[in-house]
Amino acid sequence: MGSNWRVQSDKMAFKPVTHVLFDMDGLLIDTEVIYTRTIETILEKYIGPTELSWDVKKKQMGKIAPDLAKLIIEEYKLPLQPAEYTAEARIIQENLFPHCDIMPGAERLIRHLKAHNIPIALATSSAAETFRMKTTYHKEFFQLFDHHVYGSSDPELKRGKPHPDIFIVAASRFPDKPAPENVLVFEDAPNGVKAASSAGMQVVMVPDPRMDEESRREATLSLTNLYEFKPEWFGLPPFDD
Ligand SMILES: [Mg+2]
Repeated sequence: MGSNWRVQSDKMAFKPVTHVLFDMDGLLIDTEVIYTRTIETILEKYIGPTELSWDVKKKQMGKIAPDLAKLIIEEYKLPLQPAEYTAEARIIQENLFPHCDIMPGAERLIRHLKAHNIPIALATSSAAETFRMKTTYHKEFFQLFDHHVYGSSDPELKRGKPHPDIFIVAASRFPDKPAPENVLVFEDAPNGVKAASSAGMQVVMVPDPRMDEESRREATLSLTNLYEFKPEWFGLPPFDD
């Protein structure tokens, strides 16, 4: 209910942008279910069958690898070091990530922006290694982006989302270095929305349907899926259909 009301009431207040940054997991590709499955597999091994709570899931989404490991170890008191957790997770994920699907509406939006020469980049908390697993069958799609920033393995990045660093770095790597107010971010996770908003950028949130109204509030706009997005709200070329 809330998302449509926000679209109606706020869209006249949006500011036009020139560049667009995209989160990846849960926004462009359906990998959050794989993170949940990975965490639950590790929990089962160390503390017995355990469902990942929505509260912890909300905090996990968007985190870089060492922060994610620390969160799960602390929340569930696992007898592991973060690096050990990450190593175990990677083994589980290398069989699951390659089979992930692209999220509804992602392909249409990215191809549209690309066709109109709007500069677009990927700003993911993934490491380059997990990016390769996730995009095994989507290589051509991810080549449409002008550049990629991998938050868990980029030497220029020390702090992950919710810190604004990844979006600031991703914007600075466009040749014309746009100011934050000229950049629009797409995100699904509260950590990512916070990061974009701290960077001074507008942010469209396309969250998991379980996301509460309070967690959507910091976004410039919250949508149910990417098909609902109208580029002209932010001064970008409208879809032809
Ligand atoms: Mg995400």
